Amino acid sequence: MAATFLFSGFVKALDPLGMEHKLESYSAVLGLNLIAGSITLDVAAIALALLEFSLGVYLLLGMRRRMATMGAFSFMFFMTIVTTYIYIYNPVTDCGCFGDAITLTNGETLAKNIVLLTLATLLLIQRKRSLRIISEHNQWLLSLYSMVYLMGVALYSLHFLPLFDFTGYGLGTDIAKAMQGEYATTFVYEKNGQKQTFTEENLPDSTWTYVDAQQEILVAPTINDFSLLNADGEEEADFILADTTLTFIATIPHLPTADPGCSDALNDVYDHALDHNHHFLCATTGSLEDISAWKDRTGAAYPFVWSSAEMLKAMVRSNPGLVLLKEGRIIAKWSHNNMPTDAQLAALNTNIESAQRNSRNETFGMLFLWFVVPFGVLLLIDRIWMGSRYYKVHIYYKSLKKRSTMRKHIVAGNWKMNKNLQEGIALATELNNLLTAEKPNCDVVIGTPFIHLAKVSDILDHSVIGLAAENCANHASGAYTGEVSAEMVKSTGAEYVILGHSERREYYAETPEILKEKVDLALANGLKVIFCIGESLAQREANEQEAVCKAELEGSVFHLTPEQWSNIVIAYEPIWAIGTGKTATSDQAQEIHAFIRSCVAEKYGAELADKTSILYGGSCNGKNAPELFAKADIDGGLIGGASLKAEDFKLIIDAWK
Ligand code: PEP
Repeated sequence: MAATFLFSGFVKALDPLGMEHKLESYSAVLGLNLIAGSITLDVAAIALALLEFSLGVYLLLGMRRRMATMGAFSFMFFMTIVTTYIYIYNPVTDCGCFGDAITLTNGETLAKNIVLLTLATLLLIQRKRSLRIISEHNQWLLSLYSMVYLMGVALYSLHFLPLFDFTGYGLGTDIAKAMQGEYATTFVYEKNGQKQTFTEENLPDSTWTYVDAQQEILVAPTINDFSLLNADGEEEADFILADTTLTFIATIPHLPTADPGCSDALNDVYDHALDHNHHFLCATTGSLEDISAWKDRTGAAYPFVWSSAEMLKAMVRSNPGLVLLKEGRIIAKWSHNNMPTDAQLAALNTNIESAQRNSRNETFGMLFLWFVVPFGVLLLIDRIWMGSRYYKVHIYYKSLKKRSTMRKHIVAGNWKMNKNLQEGIALATELNNLLTAEKPNCDVVIGTPFIHLAKVSDILDHSVIGLAAENCANHASGAYTGEVSAEMVKSTGAEYVILGHSERREYYAETPEILKEKVDLALANGLKVIFCIGESLAQREANEQEAVCKAELEGSVFHLTPEQWSNIVIAYEPIWAIGTGKTATSDQAQEIHAFIRSCVAEKYGAELADKTSILYGGSCNGKNAPELFAKADIDGGLIGGASLKAEDFKLIIDAWK
């Protein structure tokens, strides 16, 4: 898919005017009658090339997978509809999807588009499995380079002439030969009932009997139209093709819109031709009125001949353009923006080869290198940069077996919607008594419903047990019936708020944006945030846990400043483990905790990452807590069910002993 888009965009950029001629025929079918060379078609042709090339680059590197695959799908969907119409009604003979580089019949184009649409659909569905081979951080650079490169190629080709000529009229072409093609004749002879094929150079002896002669096409004709009719209706093409002097042909496929800005230059070339006994013709499709209008406007005195529009458009991608022939061979071409100067004309007399530009292969090679080399170098630099970062934040953190001493160990309870006020007070009192009598080896927090907060706050010894709300509003204050603001939470004596719990994300449609607002308000009101992240079972099965956790951090908390970040505690809670009795194994939990820490390191640096407490949550209990908490990156737990009984909760707290 990527290669097709890259190729298709590139060949359009190499020949924007060729694409405009195609668009001109489409616009005629639609009754719009836009003319190639108009600003509208200039913009449309370049935009189309840019769109296809960019889609190719994005698909190739796996960048912005959603946007790129959606773009590719929409593009192919639209194109398949267009080509189905073209296939049925035949308004044009070649849809022009690959410019003149590859010409396909309408049937072939439709078949190609059906295959590509199928691929684009698969890509869209399976986009998450495509691999991004450039860092997110640097992808803009390659995207920008590709766009600048393509724009450069397209604008150059439009202003001067196509950097690479796909028409049959490329530099060096012998027109007569190109019209004939190349053939080889082979002869079939027979001897003793056996047939054999011979070429003209090695015919067999007389013991063989001649059977048949066959013609094989070596090179198919690439030009099927070269006609120059003079005012008397006589054909001048044969004379021009045989002419041993130089012949300049000014090509004006559409006189009314031809740029008269180069008319002085054309007149100079005509004078030069007269002075040096060269020929000069102006080939057009225009009417006699158009020609006399042109003569009036430009003072043209050169003779006119008539050709087909297709031939003139293909000969030089410019209106007007100029082509130089010698003995039927194309020696040079000029666009109306770049007519030959006096010095160049003088040089033609002494060294005709100087008019020729680089060979096709050289030009193509240079163009290819100009894209591939800087692109490859940028990609390589990115890979090296990412490699060193990856080593630091992923491999290094994952290999750490020893826990950092820089961060707090925390066991936090989340009562959810359990316990009435009296039961809550009783539980808080019991826990307070237990923990003041036997000091815990970690920070302890209990998260209670709003109505408990003020009372429980009075009961707790806050030097031993911290208090958390389970939610707060995403507005500071005002007409939000039933909501409780971060400021209100703070005023009860609570120090923490739990935000981003999967139950609130799922049942109360809390989006990353809403959570971001809540986080900001909580921090602004002096609360610490226990921010929950974690993947669903389907996401774990699709091995997306890392991407999900990273996206949740990026969506709601990675906008914070480093100072704000020091008031964030992360709770990794795989949704499939919450309240289900299924716990992540300690290795599974350690692996993702290390990944989360590496993301924090990537964002805030190693020191802050080392200081960040990352809690595990999901069916954690007195039995599994010691093994989980023994892992280097698990700094405690967020406990649901097991926090509703003081002795169960205490068992988990004691895992730190
Ligand atoms: C929770 O809801 O935060 C939680 C971890 O629940 P449980 O411990 O009951 O799985």
